[in-house]
Amino acid sequence: MKYWPYKERRIWIELAWIAAFNLACFALFVYFELFDKLDDWFHNHPDTPLDEVMLVGFSLAVSMTVFAIRRLREARGLLKVLRRQAERDDITNLANRRRANQMLQRETERSFRSNRPFSVLLIDIDHFKCINDNHGHQVGDAVLHRFAKVLQTRARQLDTVARWGGEEFIVVCPETGQLGALQLAADIGRLLQETDFAPVSAVTASIGVATLQEDDTPDSLIHRADMRLYAAKQAGRNRVVGEFGTDEPLSA
Ligand code: GH3
Ligand code: MG
Ligand code: MG
Repeated sequence: MKYWPYKERRIWIELAWIAAFNLACFALFVYFELFDKLDDWFHNHPDTPLDEVMLVGFSLAVSMTVFAIRRLREARGLLKVLRRQAERDDITNLANRRRANQMLQRETERSFRSNRPFSVLLIDIDHFKCINDNHGHQVGDAVLHRFAKVLQTRARQLDTVARWGGEEFIVVCPETGQLGALQLAADIGRLLQETDFAPVSAVTASIGVATLQEDDTPDSLIHRADMRLYAAKQAGRNRVVGEFGTDEPLSA
C-alpha cells in the first residue's frame, strides 16, 4: 500500500537510535564521572530526596518500556485486522478484488520467470438477479456465500478464489495449463449441480477460462477470460468457454 503509515522497520530503526543515544549518554556520564558528583552532592545535601528520584527514574524507564511493548503488540493486532479487512470480502469471506489483482500480478510475473503455465477462471452466476427478485436479497447473499464455499471446496491450496464483484468470482490457478483449468471448471459445474442451495432450486454458472500467453499482462489475460465468459453467456449459459471454444452445458 502506497501511503501505509505503519512500518515495523521504522520502529526497529528508532529502537536502534534510542540504544545509540543511551550508549552516548553512558559514555558522557563515565567521562564526566557524573554519578560520583551526584553522589557527593546527595551526601552534602542529606535533606533533599533527589536520590530517590533516581530510583523513580529507573521504575519510570521500566514502566515506559512495558507501555511501549504493549502498544507495539496492539499495533501489530490492528495491522492484522486492517490487512484482513483490506483483502477480504464480507459476504463470502473470500479474497476481494484488490487481493485478486495482487495475486494476478504476482502469478503473471512468476509464470514468466519460471516458464510455468498459469490460468484464470472467471465465473458468473447465471440469472442471479432472478434469485434476488424471487427470494429477496438475504437469500441472494446466502447463495453467494454457499457458492463461494463450493469454489473453495474444489480449488487447490495453491489457487486463490476471490469475489471479483457482484455475482462474479475469479479463481487464480498457478501451475495450471488450459486443460487443467477446463477440468477445474467442469468439476465446479458438477459440484454446483450436487449442491443444495435451498430455497433456490438450482444455481448454475458460466465460466470463461484463459491461460497466460507470451506478451500477456494481467489485464489482457482477464480480458480474454471475460470475452469467453461473455461467449458462454451468449451460447446459453451454464457452460465453460476456453481456448478450444464452447463446451457442452455443464449440467443437464
Ligand atoms: P446473467 O446470467 O446474464 O449473469 O444475469 P444476472 O441476473 O446474473 O446478471 P445481472 O448483471 O443482470 O444481475 C446481477 C445481480 O446481482 C444484480 C445485483 O443486484 C445482484 N448483486 C450484486 N451484488 C450483490 C450482493 O452482494 N448481494 C446480492 N444479494 N445481490 C447482489
Ligand atoms: Mg450473472
Ligand atoms: Mg455479472
